[in-house]
Amino acid sequence: MACSGWRIIFALLIFLLQPMNDNPKRGFTASVLAVPTAKPDPHGALNMPVYQTAAYEFATAEAMEPAFTGRSADHAYSRITNPTVEHFETRVRAATGAFSVTAFNSGMAAIANLLMTVARAGDNIVASPHLFGNTYSLLASTLADFGVEVRWVDVTRPECVAAAMDDNSCALFLEVVTNPQLEVADLKALSAVCRQQGVPLVADTTVIPFSAFRAAEWGIDLEIVSSTKYLSGGATGLGGLLVDYGTFDWSRRPKLARAAEQYGVPPQAAFTAKLRREIHRNLGAYMTPQVAYQQSLGLETLEVRYARMSQTTLALARALEQLPQIEAVHYPGLPSHPFHAVARRQFGEAPGAMLTLELASQEACFAFLNRLKLIHRATNLFDNKSLAIHPWSTIYGPFPEAVRRDMDIRPTTIRLSIGLEDAGDLLSDIQQALS
Ligand code: PLP
Repeated sequence: MACSGWRIIFALLIFLLQPMNDNPKRGFTASVLAVPTAKPDPHGALNMPVYQTAAYEFATAEAMEPAFTGRSADHAYSRITNPTVEHFETRVRAATGAFSVTAFNSGMAAIANLLMTVARAGDNIVASPHLFGNTYSLLASTLADFGVEVRWVDVTRPECVAAAMDDNSCALFLEVVTNPQLEVADLKALSAVCRQQGVPLVADTTVIPFSAFRAAEWGIDLEIVSSTKYLSGGATGLGGLLVDYGTFDWSRRPKLARAAEQYGVPPQAAFTAKLRREIHRNLGAYMTPQVAYQQSLGLETLEVRYARMSQTTLALARALEQLPQIEAVHYPGLPSHPFHAVARRQFGEAPGAMLTLELASQEACFAFLNRLKLIHRATNLFDNKSLAIHPWSTIYGPFPEAVRRDMDIRPTTIRLSIGLEDAGDLLSDIQQALS
């Protein structure tokens, strides 16, 4: 095909990738609900059907070629695209104003795909060691085996971040509220460092959903969300989202500097083209249609559920601070928290539905967990049900003690994920479990 033909097709592709929110004044939930379902649908279904199919039939052999070579938007195989998953991605894009959204079958799959797209052997990733356990292990162990170095830094000190970066730094990676340490970095300050150094700011925003936090406004270039959490609404399945805001100049990163030319897309689309045309289809971790359907329903109620869960968490944190059996309550919404001011600025008065308690000993933690009657002893975060766990002996149990201490994981910490129950009921359960 002549070069100009390619350009027209890619111009169309880029047009389709433009932000969907045609009314910027619309709120989050209205933007989600305004995205139309499949058209034409013979039954006028108000919900997007679950297209539970691996492959798609073509009317002619001629029609197959452009679908398989990326020159048409037709679906060919559900590892690459699927109408139900695409509908979910479109709704997220409409609500966030993102440049592109890709859905994966777990949060970890989204992180792995992102880092495999930006990093190559010899590169380094600058990161906070205060990370979810598997993310830490992915950086410290899995990627290290492929020649990608990780440089651990204190991301609450932008000058340390700048000092750690060099020409081979391919990403700054952090969690906006770290799980479970509840550390909060100054995103605008870090974004300024990243801009100056030509490094994309990559943030896992799982603890604060995008109904309450617009990542691009804080300088985040690439956002990761474990949609297993708030978004799924009831923890019915695993999922992850990779949101590209199209804000990073990829000509500054050697690995992707020629991607725009290679795929015939504008420079802004270099990351998404490399991800969708190569990495994502090769690693094969796309979201399944059933999960996309469930999480699309979860998206409809995300704003309302999060408002209640985060307000309950704030109320509970204030009440728990008064209990003498608890040595310390950590929640960035409390004025006593070391990152209260920056958390309030970035995420509002109730920053997330996770808090931690410090008890006298590991034994006291186990006794507390064993006495809980309403709150469930389980891992996971932001289910509709409240959950409690002892991170030291579970999520971080496989790590050597010295690594756990480096990551600021303590044997005396209980992590609570607050669900939709009434704050009074949760407080009563905690009080009886402490008694
Ligand atoms: N990021 C954070 C902050 C998490 O807490 C988790 C899981 O708990 C993940 C990423 C990984 O998500 P998933 O379990 O969906 O793979």
